[in-house]
Amino acid sequence: MEVHCEGCAGCCMDWRPLLDDADDEETARGRRRTPFDEGDGRPPLDDDANFVALTRDEVRGFLEAGMAPALTPRFWRARDEGEGVEIDGHSVAAVAGRPVFFVGLRKPPKPVAPFDREEPAWLPTCVFLDPTTLQCRIHDSERFPDECGAYPAHNLALEQETECERVEAAFGGERLLEAAVDEDLDGLLLGSQALGTKLFAHPRPEALEGIVERTAAGTLTVTDRAECLAVAAASSPGTLATSDYHYEWGRERALEAAADARRDSSDGRDASDGRIDGTRDSDRERGESWVGPAIREWHRRRTAANGAVPAPDVAIDVEDDRGALETPGWDALE
Ligand code: SF4
Repeated sequence: MEVHCEGCAGCCMDWRPLLDDADDEETARGRRRTPFDEGDGRPPLDDDANFVALTRDEVRGFLEAGMAPALTPRFWRARDEGEGVEIDGHSVAAVAGRPVFFVGLRKPPKPVAPFDREEPAWLPTCVFLDPTTLQCRIHDSERFPDECGAYPAHNLALEQETECERVEAAFGGERLLEAAVDEDLDGLLLGSQALGTKLFAHPRPEALEGIVERTAAGTLTVTDRAECLAVAAASSPGTLATSDYHYEWGRERALEAAADARRDSSDGRDASDGRIDGTRDSDRERGESWVGPAIREWHRRRTAANGAVPAPDVAIDVEDDRGALETPGWDALE
């Protein structure tokens, strides 16, 4: 498999808003192939077309690094009544009566100009994508998700269209240069293999009341996310069992990472709507990772921009100056 990623990053953002035709937008949904997904008749409750699902150990790694604000859960609508659990008026896909979910990376709005576009646009973009270079900030770090490293090989192995081909079809150019996939490709984690490793089952469905509705509405709070991250961190591969010790640890880590946002917010909501302005000096004084403040700042700028789109290198101010890992640029890789 060989791909040409320079100037693309189509698999790291939701570029449907760039399509003129609503039909094209609809067919562009659910582009990453996942164990529970739209192709299986289980549409997700959220609207992320390129959700990056993390393994339990990756979730623990992000929690350990104080980067819980980068993470969010994904639930699905049940395919039929028999497999669903009713929560907040939604029939949520479940295994053995336990609602199941993924944990993946959030996509705040960022000004990006992919596919050789001259003008940037605000697009939901992976928290770790550098808008200036369209490169991944964690590509060479231990935090780099397995799923990103394996994309688009998993789609090719499953004979599903890749993001590279969708970008080629919509904007031209050559992205997927060579489509052969290693026979020993692993990490697909489909079906029962995924349980406890990538697909997490919540042992107390009643704890998800309110969370399911806020997932569908895109208004999850810090405590909502902490509940899901804690269950993911507490899960055990191949089983429905969860560890109380890891649940408490995960919840504490997730709440700690967002503690300042919660203290500043009168109703405990996350600041993802931009109501809270984290400044760099105060972030540093609080020892907070750059991730949470940068997400808040992107939302704040998007709202304040009133339709205007800044140059992508405003990310130097929003992300780099807060301590985000720098990306090398494409010249450095040639
Ligand atoms: S972690 Fe990196 S490669 Fe994966 S979606 Fe985010 S920016 Fe893209």
